Order: sequence, then C-alpha cells, then structure tokens
Amino acid sequence: MRKFIVFICAAAIVIILFNMFYECNHEWEEATCQVPKTCSKCGATEGDVIDHHWENTDCGSPSPCSMCGTLEGIELTHHWQPDGSKLCKVCGLDERPMDVRFVESLGKALDARWKIMGDEVWYGISERSTWEKIVEAEREILGKYANSHFDDPELGEAAADYIASIDEVETALEGFGTEEWESDYYDSIRHKENVALYTVSTKFDIPVAEENREKLSELTESGLTIVAVNKLIENLRIHDLGGSGNVHNYDVIMENNTEKDFARFMYLVEFYDRNEKVILTRKFTVYNWNPGEKLTRQISINGGYAGMKVISVEWE
Ligand SMILES: [Zn+2]
Ligand SMILES: [Zn+2]
Ligand SMILES: [Zn+2]
Repeated sequence: MRKFIVFICAAAIVIILFNMFYECNHEWEEATCQVPKTCSKCGATEGDVIDHHWENTDCGSPSPCSMCGTLEGIELTHHWQPDGSKLCKVCGLDERPMDVRFVESLGKALDARWKIMGDEVWYGISERSTWEKIVEAEREILGKYANSHFDDPELGEAAADYIASIDEVETALEGFGTEEWESDYYDSIRHKENVALYTVSTKFDIPVAEENREKLSELTESGLTIVAVNKLIENLRIHDLGGSGNVHNYDVIMENNTEKDFARFMYLVEFYDRNEKVILTRKFTVYNWNPGEKLTRQISINGGYAGMKVISVEWE
C-alpha cells in the first residue's frame, strides 16, 4: 500500500513538472466572430473575437454574416427620400422626427374618416356603427402617438387633444341618437378636435388627399373661430355701478377682440353668489358685431354677486 501511494505522488510530480516545462508549439486557428484565435493543439487563445462579416448591408437584401450567419447587429444602408428626410424608400423605416410623422398620420386618419363617411356630414350619419368604424380607424393610425414626445410642445398638446377626442367620441357614442350625444359632440368634442386641427395647421401642412383638402379647411376654419370665440368668452367683464343694499347695478362689458364679424353672437351667462348659488341667468345677444366693437349691457342683481360664468355661446 505504501508503495502505491509513493507511485501516485511520483506520477503527479511528473505531470506537474511536464506542464511547467513543456512549451506547446501552437498551431493557431484564425479568430472568427464567435471565438478568438485558438491553438488547435492546446486550446490556448489569444486576442478577442473579430467583427461579423457582412458583404451586403443594403436594407433590401442584406446578407447574413459569412462566419456565423447572423443579421443581428448589422448596420443597414437605407435609401432615404430625395429631400434627405429619413424615410426609407425600400424598407419603409421611418426615422423622421415625431412631429413630422404625427402630422402625416393625422392626414391619413382624416382621409380614413372621410372615406368611411363618404359624402355624409357628421350630423347626417345615421348608424352608430359608422361612428365606431371612424373611432377604430383613427385610433389605429394615431393611438401610437398617445404618449409620444414632440419637439414642439404646442403641437404635442394639440396631438394629445386630438387623440383624447377619439376616446371621448367613443364614450359619447353610448348615448348615440340622443340629444346628449349631439351636444357632447357638437359643442364639446368637435370644438376640441377642430381647435387641435387648427393649431396643427398653423405649424404644418396637414397632408390629406386632394379631394379632402376643402373638408380639412372647413375644420381648421371652424377651429380658428372657436379659438376666437374662446377669446371673446374670456374677455367678458362686469363693472359694479353701485346700488343700495343687496341690489346693485352692473355694466356687462363685451368687446369683440377677434378678427371676425359675427352676424349674431349670443352669450348665456350665470351670475352666482359667494356660495356659488346661481342668482341670475341672462342671455345677451349681439347682432352684426364687428372686430373691436365694444358694447355694454346693464343688469341689476339682487343678492351678493361674487362671479359669473358663460355657460353657452352661439354664433353665426
Ligand atoms: Zn498550443
Ligand atoms: Zn458573425
Ligand atoms: Zn431601408
């Protein structure tokens, strides 16, 4: 037994000494993209793996790495537009700024809407399913921009408003066919949509199909008017003329601070007290109202006036 152990130890020492003094006459195999330069005899390596080798990097027909067969990590060569914008003519890769892409998609969404509507005007659509198709088509094209970052923050806001209005239409459709649906869409959602379109149109040309250009300008013009009307509403003023006790007379001051001539403009205004209780509701109508024209109407309020709120407007 002891002899055997001595033999084992001797063998181990021989192996250790052999490894210490043996020098492999390496036979190197060239490095590839997978393994570094390697000795085929002892397995020693030197250096690092090399880059993949791609012969053809054209995005239309790229060739895989001739060593490992991968396309992963390849830097493709694209065919950008003649004006240099980064939309590839061959593979469709779109690396243009978000703002540009959104505006183009907005044009497509509008074209999709009008294709579904045909020659019908919005209030002539008799089927709820038609509206649902419009919602679906616009969402499919624009939904992806919901949380996008835009270079132009005002455009970003308009984009967010327009996209939000798609959801609002969907919600309002639950009451389709009722007056509530009409007033939701007519007085609120449509305003928001058209103001958004107007805002976008002041910055970019919204690319819709030729036959839809007139429809688009009707919407942006309506948006412009709504922006103007909002300015009018904000500009409504009241001036206390004094009085006795709780009864005071006031001048309600209206000024057409827009560029627009209104054949008729109507405000419906609520006046409320400190507890936000409505103490008077009045309708003011102005005819042939020219830009810059200032008018006052006298009212008298019984109760402690604290503020007023325009609850609806109508104009022609
Ligand atoms: Zn070797
Ligand atoms: Zn490779
Ligand atoms: Zn390409």
